[in-house]
Amino acid sequence: MERRTTFCSYCNKQVELTVTDAPAHGAQANVPDGGDLVCLDFGVGCQGTQCPISGLPSIVMGFRLARSNAVKNEPWPLVYTTCKACGELANLEVLDRSHAYCTMCGSTSTLLMLPLDDGRYVVLSRG
Ligand SMILES: [Zn+2]
Repeated sequence: MERRTTFCSYCNKQVELTVTDAPAHGAQANVPDGGDLVCLDFGVGCQGTQCPISGLPSIVMGFRLARSNAVKNEPWPLVYTTCKACGELANLEVLDRSHAYCTMCGSTSTLLMLPLDDGRYVVLSRG
């Protein structure tokens, strides 16, 4: 994937962007997959804000990045828990404090997660 660097006004630093693989030229015009801008520096600092690069809520960028299989500059924090979608014990990538992406089935779960001082997360059950 091609990478470009741009300045993110929210993070106040240079960030790396890539674009998800677009359909090849000549493909049907109504193919929606690919061609989405993905920020490889998405991280905890982006949470709860609007991404100034995409103009979308930051969590949308998180979903895109998780689904794109692009290599993120900082590895995702992981929680090892039961995925509500596939029911398997799996490593879930922590997108923000309330969303995690299952590396087994590719579903996004809504969880309540508490960040620990060492960068790990614990999952809190909701009542
Ligand atoms: Zn799953």
